Amino acid sequence: AAANPLAQFVQGPRGAALDAYWMPFTANRQFKKNPRLFVKAQGMHYWTDEGRQVLDAVAGLWCVNAGHNRPKIVQAIQQQAAEMDYAPPFQMAHPKAFELADKVAKLTPAGLNKVFFTNSGSESVETALKMALAYHKVRGEGTRTRLIGRERGYHGVNFGGISVGGMVANRKQFGAMVSGVDHIVHTHDPKRNAFSMGQPEHGAELADDLERLVALHDASTIAAVIVEPVAGSTGVLVPPKGYLNRLREICDKHGILLIFDEVITGWGRTGNPFGAQTFGVTPDIIVMAKGLSNGAVPMGGVAVKQHIHDAFMNGPEHLIEFFHGYTYSSHPLACAAALGTLETYADEGLLTRAGELSAYFAQAVHGLRGEPNVIDIRNIGLVAGIELSPIAGSPAKRAFDIFLDCYEKGVLIRTTGDTLALSPPLIIERSHIDQIIDTVRGAIRRHAA
Ligand code: PLP
Repeated sequence: AAANPLAQFVQGPRGAALDAYWMPFTANRQFKKNPRLFVKAQGMHYWTDEGRQVLDAVAGLWCVNAGHNRPKIVQAIQQQAAEMDYAPPFQMAHPKAFELADKVAKLTPAGLNKVFFTNSGSESVETALKMALAYHKVRGEGTRTRLIGRERGYHGVNFGGISVGGMVANRKQFGAMVSGVDHIVHTHDPKRNAFSMGQPEHGAELADDLERLVALHDASTIAAVIVEPVAGSTGVLVPPKGYLNRLREICDKHGILLIFDEVITGWGRTGNPFGAQTFGVTPDIIVMAKGLSNGAVPMGGVAVKQHIHDAFMNGPEHLIEFFHGYTYSSHPLACAAALGTLETYADEGLLTRAGELSAYFAQAVHGLRGEPNVIDIRNIGLVAGIELSPIAGSPAKRAFDIFLDCYEKGVLIRTTGDTLALSPPLIIERSHIDQIIDTVRGAIRRHAA
């Protein structure tokens, strides 16, 4: 094993000045007893501080879609850092922001021509929700103030996002949410759809739940509906056939904006640049982040239909049209990283690669059917969820133990509740898929009891 480069910080079990760092979405006390540290990454792999190679089966955190430390992205960031560190994005700009927006707009579904930049998925969600509210207001329908999310939705961790979101753990600690929010039912229906390959057959009618909310609140009070095309963080829930189309129809019927949160499904995950293209349904607004900059520098974005943007362009020309933005919106390093990322995607055909590999990946993942405690498997493109029956009285423990086991055996996966999630970099080869599935299978068997 290589010398531990973090030895100066790490005491505790391996040497613990681990105290000061309060880790996000982490079981801090448990982690600090036995820390897992990455210090190097390349292509499909990470290396730990102990020199162990780990195959990345989740693209970092669903974001490193082009694989790690790709040359064009590294060079773009290095060059930009040397050339200009920062430029103010309010009443000023730099050329790469325009270049990037143009390139992003060409990859989004037709009609989504305008792009606003942020620094994360959570900020993109807040931006999209505020755009939707302001859009109705600027065009004289200011009664449309209600936002509709969906049960089991995840839209980041800021107040708008947790309000429209549907994960109780992310809401219950924080008191009052944003007011005027409601939720449609989720699409997870294991009784009818367990072990579906790709899109489940049953459940298009679940979109009709939006009609219930229209009947309850009246369409004139509803601004927008936000859903993830595939709910990622609540277990990889693939939309039933026809579901998103039906949601689109109901939104159109009632003048409600449809927002797709494509933070995970964007940038090639489902076989097209965006899930909207895979599922053949065009929303009014797309929320993105993660794969936009390959995770190399934090960045998010919101793409909107031309008419939404244009509705704002009415007042006196010297006045700001949309009172929203971040100090680091369109940060030069993030734009450079994203341009390097898009070039890498284009050079290597990565935005359609998930489609090419999806049959092999689906067969491999569904090969886990019949293993101990496996109660459902869900997949589309290069993303999958393997759901396990929980240990009685200890929800999420079985999946977490399997995660730890896989890590020890050299494969990084992710868990959410008792679902194992796979979402590898799009440069993955079949042999890597085999290694991931073999490792997961071994871990599932070792934790059968
Ligand atoms: N929306 C979705 C669908 C996500 O999956 C995530 C993160 O996983 C977010 C929003 C939040 O993104 P971030 O963590 O960059 O704020």
